[in-house]
Amino acid sequence: MMTNPIKRRTIINLGSMAAVAGSVAAARAAARPTAAQLQTMVPSVSKAAVGYRDIPWHGRVCGACVWFKPPDAGTTVSHCHLVAGPISAAGWCQAWMKP
Ligand code: SF4
Repeated sequence: MMTNPIKRRTIINLGSMAAVAGSVAAARAAARPTAAQLQTMVPSVSKAAVGYRDIPWHGRVCGACVWFKPPDAGTTVSHCHLVAGPISAAGWCQAWMKP
């Protein structure tokens, strides 16, 4: 069974994503965000706050996460609806959620 690796401070720091998810823990328990909700989100969570890394975790990758934002046409850089800055489709963070 997976334990929740998210620390209380991390959840507090995720306040800016409250418009959709409230917190990473809430995001995991809540219904999946709608496409409309994803479109209005501004990625503002730091990579450090959610333990982002450029490698998978137990087979989980950004490319298979509900918050994943594929590269725009003509580019190869992926982004996330939650986490600010470029990410790798093969990366992972503690906010990972199954689509
Ligand atoms: S695993 Fe984390 S960084 Fe990757 S897409 Fe999901 S929320 Fe974004």
